[in-house]
Amino acid sequence: MTTTDSFTETFRDEMLGSGLLIAGPVDGLYGRSSVYERVAEGVEDFLTRLGADEVEDYVRFPPILPRTVFEQTGYLSSFPDLMGSVHSFVGDDRQHAEMVQAAESGEQWARSLDPTDVMLCSAACHSVYPRYVGVLPEGGHKLQVSSWCFRHEPSRALTRMQSFRMLEHVYVGAASEVADFRERWIKRTRDALVDLGLDIEMVTANDPFFGRGGRLLARSQRDEELKFEFVTPFDATTPPVAIASSNLHLDHFGETFGISTTSGEVAHSTCLGWGWDRIVLALFRHHGTDLRQWPAETSARLWP
Ligand SMILES: [Zn+2]
Repeated sequence: MTTTDSFTETFRDEMLGSGLLIAGPVDGLYGRSSVYERVAEGVEDFLTRLGADEVEDYVRFPPILPRTVFEQTGYLSSFPDLMGSVHSFVGDDRQHAEMVQAAESGEQWARSLDPTDVMLCSAACHSVYPRYVGVLPEGGHKLQVSSWCFRHEPSRALTRMQSFRMLEHVYVGAASEVADFRERWIKRTRDALVDLGLDIEMVTANDPFFGRGGRLLARSQRDEELKFEFVTPFDATTPPVAIASSNLHLDHFGETFGISTTSGEVAHSTCLGWGWDRIVLALFRHHGTDLRQWPAETSARLWP
């Protein structure tokens, strides 16, 4: 067992052993205890207060989104290995009997399913762009959005769940205002995470684009500094883990969804994505599994 594995297992044992998370037969899927959820709610309220002076709207979306919207996000070409599709059964009696027969004999019954109109949500902000199709209000629009997200990357590391929550602060507007918002929120994000008692470093990052073409996309994303991650150490022997990221989409979503500013420019957008569950995990990692032992300053920020 490598050091990385042993740390992964230790933290896993701590979180599962204390009942904070409940594991099942598939890696990356966990039930959350009421204590875990108390922290998750504290984090959500903390982040909501953080954006209260700017955010104009708070929305939540289901963990699935229209297949057509998913196609527009570009996720299909960039991250095919991470996506998840919702399928269901639309056959007749005979096909149903065949499927049940296949399941009972341990064969691949899921091949009998057909794609529905929905995909699993990969990033909370993907659901918001359709509402902006057309011309934005003067000054653009800032909102807070949250959703359960899915990424197909089974792992025993708790910091890499298949199903997790993401909260984002999104701004859709004119290029220069979007750039200003991003600058302001980079500082705000770092300060907020430090206020929770976490060690934070900001690093230039890239998304895990798929395949050979993906390497080029990753390089240009880094060169243009379109993505920064806020990372925190979980353990001295493993690389620090991103618990928030700042993403500048330029006109990517404005162009594909057909969103423009009042002056007729293609809208730009940026999102500050908070790894909601990862922040909760970082807090348990840094402050321990007993909430009564947490630093008073951290508790005061989560539950004022
Ligand atoms: Zn986003």
